[in-house]
Amino acid sequence: MGQLQRFVSQVLGVQRFKCAGWFWCRVDGVMLLTRSDLFVPPDAALVLRLERVGPGYCPGCGLACRKTHETLEPRQWRDLSWGTHPVFLQYAPRRVKCPRCKSTPVEWLPWADPHRRETVRFQQVVALEAASMPVSHVAAKYSLIWDGIQGIELQALARWERSRTEVPLRMVGIDEKYLGRRGAWPERYVTIISNLETGEPIWTSPVRGEASVQQWLDTLSPEQKAGIKLFASDMHAPFQAAVKADPELAHTVCCAAHQKPTTCAQEKSTRPGTRIGIAMCCG
Ligand SMILES: [Zn+2]
Repeated sequence: MGQLQRFVSQVLGVQRFKCAGWFWCRVDGVMLLTRSDLFVPPDAALVLRLERVGPGYCPGCGLACRKTHETLEPRQWRDLSWGTHPVFLQYAPRRVKCPRCKSTPVEWLPWADPHRRETVRFQQVVALEAASMPVSHVAAKYSLIWDGIQGIELQALARWERSRTEVPLRMVGIDEKYLGRRGAWPERYVTIISNLETGEPIWTSPVRGEASVQQWLDTLSPEQKAGIKLFASDMHAPFQAAVKADPELAHTVCCAAHQKPTTCAQEKSTRPGTRIGIAMCCG
């Protein structure tokens, strides 16, 4: 491997794979026949050809498999841009023979999830940008369709959900969101339930009312309900009614959203065995 290839492999940053070469493509996918001294259009895509170094790994059990069952056609994955140039990784995956699983799966590829055509790090960047700017802007920036961005977001969220440690639900926020005057939705409000300690929305309902909160409460196990210490909601009475109607939540404190949850919890703790929190805050 030459010095330049070694440098590109380092920038690529994919362990156990190296960059075996590269070429330029037009935006329509046609390969550009360029010499090193010719100008490359700023929107030309850079395609990096990857080769594996060492054995492939079984995606099921993680075993290093030295035998190959079949080499598949080369595929490309969208990666983070280099300067103004979109970058694609090209590789011909192998189906490995796994002696442990007794199967021939497509090898584990460290840069992408199965059945996806973009790298994990590209997904990460697009998902973050889609959360902080209009989807139309992200679509224009990366030449993606809206549905494609939604698929990337869902993939990134699912991966994040799998990798995070579960946060116990102890303080719950119940609130409504006004959808505005526009739109053809029959309901003008949605109900949003969130974990107040992490700030994460954990459940939404397209309607507002006691039934929507009750529907969410029905998804909780007795153990989960026992772990909840406090509910904070606005003054929409049906929200509070749903909580008060559930006997498994009798131990909880319920306060108005404008009150500090800690104040309510302290109040409750000073008089154990009472429902003072609900009595004082929820009327
Ligand atoms: Zn295996």
